Amino acid sequence: MILPNGPRLNPEQVREITGIVESFGCHIQPIVGAVRTIYAIVGDERDELMINRLEGLSYIERIDRIQSPFKLMDIRSDLATHKIAIGGVTLGRKLLVIAGQCTIDPKNPDYFYETAQAVKEAGAHVLRGGVWKPRTNPYAFQGDDKSLDILMEASRRTGLPVDTEVMDEDQLKLALDAGVPMLQVGARNALNYSLLRQIGSAVSGRKTIVLLKRSLHMGTLHEFISAAEYIANFGNPNVILCPRGTAPALDGYRNHPDESIVPLLKERTWAPVVVDPSHSVGKASYVPACALAAVAYGADGLCIEAHVQPSKGIGDDPKQAITPAVLAETIRLAREIWTLRRPGKAV
Ligand code: PEP
Ligand code: MN
Repeated sequence: MILPNGPRLNPEQVREITGIVESFGCHIQPIVGAVRTIYAIVGDERDELMINRLEGLSYIERIDRIQSPFKLMDIRSDLATHKIAIGGVTLGRKLLVIAGQCTIDPKNPDYFYETAQAVKEAGAHVLRGGVWKPRTNPYAFQGDDKSLDILMEASRRTGLPVDTEVMDEDQLKLALDAGVPMLQVGARNALNYSLLRQIGSAVSGRKTIVLLKRSLHMGTLHEFISAAEYIANFGNPNVILCPRGTAPALDGYRNHPDESIVPLLKERTWAPVVVDPSHSVGKASYVPACALAAVAYGADGLCIEAHVQPSKGIGDDPKQAITPAVLAETIRLAREIWTLRRPGKAV
């Protein structure tokens, strides 16, 4: 829908917008009101370039899109009934809990094996463990290929499926070859469109699930869902959205907690939403409240950093990992909230 600056367009302007939309296979239908005439774009109006050309005209106030730009991730798309399942949980039917260390320490694998067993006992369905880490400080530990073996060994020992972040094509290949069932796209790469395309193409034809973090900056919902569309576009729609806090941070927290966007996402997309409270607030003592708030807001799951001995951890674990005991209590309360939100449905 084209809204002009003034009450109506002159014939020359109508000719110009008609020429633009016709070159994209659409046509214009004026809708004459008492004080203002607006111009409907009839046809497939999703072409970004057509919209940009119209928005660039000085006599146009704005373009309101009727059609969603998301062919696959939109709540009204054919995929709206698609269900994603992992670790015995079908997203939307039961609260999914992903938990484990921020970073696997390749020199001390036993911590990870112990954490894996402990998060399983606490009620987690998926084990997370960072093999390769995106670090702000170039001199900080960047991860290690060896940790992939530790991750898969922990998966074998516990029977839990695993989630790990990949940042480039080599890591992507190593993770898929090792059989990692859930790949994480981190906040720093959430808008790396060539990586999103590589991941989308690599997981197409597989059952792999992609946990897509929200980008670090306070980006729009449109941008977040579009990033998911990039991946799904190759044929595997198993994409989960993961709000994890944005920058600038709320004073005292690591980021600006954004679990409150869950209902807004759910109005626009069918994609499950799993909130990461750990990176959002960034301190272990604040994590349980953020996790519970996320479930109250309608999250389908939680991704929480946990460690058997946080002070012995590397990466984010010393400051933001919760202990298995705190995790167990958080999961118990989260399930209660989940049940309250969905009367009559099992947790
Ligand atoms: C992580 O999960 O450890 C991580 C680095 O996450 P994010 O990309 O959200 O910072
Ligand atoms: Mn982390």
